Amino acid sequence: MRIGILALQGAFAEHGAVLDRLGEEHFEIRRRADLEDDFDGLILPGGESTAMRKLLCDLNLFDPLRERIRAGLPVFGTCAGLILLAREVEGGLPCFASMDIRARRNAYGRQLGSFYAEETFDGIGRIPMTFIRAPYIAEAGKGVQVLAETGGRIVAARQGSQLVTAFHPELDESLAVHRFWIKLFLKK
Ligand code: GLN
Repeated sequence: MRIGILALQGAFAEHGAVLDRLGEEHFEIRRRADLEDDFDGLILPGGESTAMRKLLCDLNLFDPLRERIRAGLPVFGTCAGLILLAREVEGGLPCFASMDIRARRNAYGRQLGSFYAEETFDGIGRIPMTFIRAPYIAEAGKGVQVLAETGGRIVAARQGSQLVTAFHPELDESLAVHRFWIKLFLKK
């Protein structure tokens, strides 16, 4: 099993470090030729969704990745990665638009938007959650399963083979969310 990590911008190296700790094979997706290698899952990291969206288009990565996501490739989007998957984006433009959620960008304000919480994640238990200029899910469609909330806002959800978190599990000690994603979608 091999996991591709979109490595155009943002916190991609941290995801790689988590996968190293879990002993999972991974590689970075930086250009179109990288998609020629086989992979079984895709991580869309945190960073700046507008920059990633532009780079995905400029580097001709958008169409092939969208096709694979729509075909059911297991995908895990954190923070900006959540925004890239959302069908609708408040304060920005949709990208892959493959998940039936409305994301509110920079939902907690740009300056005061970074905080830490500990909440229950459905199927895992209580985990640390680090938010950095995070979005939240303002609305989730019928086919979407809500997995975590903080302050009454949805901050983790799944639909089909897609998992998203508004927080950054790759920045915390806990490996639980990556393990959850791999177990649920990649090692059936
Ligand atoms: N504010 C960023 C965006 O809108 C997301 C922040 C993050 O990924 N930490 O793309």
